Amino acid sequence: MTWPEQYGGSNCSYLERYVVIEELLAAGAPVGAHWIADRQSGPLLLRFGTEQQKQHYLPKMAQGECFFAIGMSEPNSGSDLASIKTTAKRVDGGWVVNGSKIWTSWAHVCHQMITLCRTEPASDNRHAGLSQLIIDLSSDGVTIRPIKSMAGEQHFNEVFIDNVFVADDAVVGDINNGWNQVMAELAFERSGPERFLSCYRLLEACIESLRAGGPSAQANRVIGQFIAKLMVLRQMSLSVASQLQAGKLPVNEASVVKDLGTSFEQDLPEAMRSIVSVEARPQVEEGVPRMLSDAILTAPSFSLRGGTREILRGILAKGLGLR
Ligand SMILES: Cc1cc2nc3c(=O)[nH]c(=O)nc-3n(C[C@H](O)[C@H](O)[C@H](O)COP(=O)(O)OP(=O)(O)OC[C@H]3O[C@@H](n4cnc5c(N)ncnc54)[C@H](O)[C@@H]3O)c2cc1C
Repeated sequence: MTWPEQYGGSNCSYLERYVVIEELLAAGAPVGAHWIADRQSGPLLLRFGTEQQKQHYLPKMAQGECFFAIGMSEPNSGSDLASIKTTAKRVDGGWVVNGSKIWTSWAHVCHQMITLCRTEPASDNRHAGLSQLIIDLSSDGVTIRPIKSMAGEQHFNEVFIDNVFVADDAVVGDINNGWNQVMAELAFERSGPERFLSCYRLLEACIESLRAGGPSAQANRVIGQFIAKLMVLRQMSLSVASQLQAGKLPVNEASVVKDLGTSFEQDLPEAMRSIVSVEARPQVEEGVPRMLSDAILTAPSFSLRGGTREILRGILAKGLGLR
């Protein structure tokens, strides 16, 4: 919605996008496949990509025809992303990439993966020598292996990259500027309503069930507390959207939204279980127990994906000048 019309976008503001995204999430719409292209790979290409990359990828992303995955984490590199081992070696006309990625959301349905790799050996400056390359996931040498989540879903994968050739025109931004680009990308990832609406449909369904059974004072209190927090998170997230609209990079503000938002999402299923099971068991709507069990099994991942709680608090401590 926010991209320029020349690349298939609608020139809308971040706030207009916010309204639509919020409605999609609140309705539980199936947004997974194009989510990463819309939220971060597209904006990354708009900011750092070549004109040719923008013209090639952005209109297809906007049409929902081209899905992108994030190839950052590796088996021994998550929070400490600068320690990645995937390498890209210079050859005639491009780069040969070797390594593996893990926890890659939706790689099994994505077309491309923006892959963080080392283009120079690690040095004293750990953040130097990293680059982002677009790897076509149907290339020879790419193997994608599913990892089933605790809830039994295939959401993420291992991606093995074995001597994969990537042409020069698939380099995003500047070689060896990968770290700065990744940091800019993560700011898009941390503050949206997806950071506190993952369990929204459960909340709504529980409220409906309680309403049918006549809620107790205890149930009213719990629901009231969650709604109050939700309203505050929404205001904070909207404020970050306004800052993005103004061209700012609200890294600390986005970290606060994600930290508080994911705590909210993680507390919600347990709280709902306590009031729904006691108060409204006979009236529980069909589907609520299933939603509840899914939410309980998925909730631990909320504070891991997109940077863990401890890492976000580290960023905040730095932003406040405490370290
Ligand atoms: C649902 C889901 C989807 C994901 N999708 C993707 C994806 O599409 N692409 C991708 O690249 N990655 C993805 N990830 C991976 C995610 O980014 C990593 O899991 C995350 O960065 C943490 O890395 P790790 O799992 O290696 O844990 P580790 O970094 O090993 O951390 C383990 C624990 O140690 C703590 N810790 C680590 N370092 C410090 C420190 N310096 N100070 C204090 N505490 C610390 C962490 O907070 C954590 O609690 C996904 C993860 C999940 C759960």
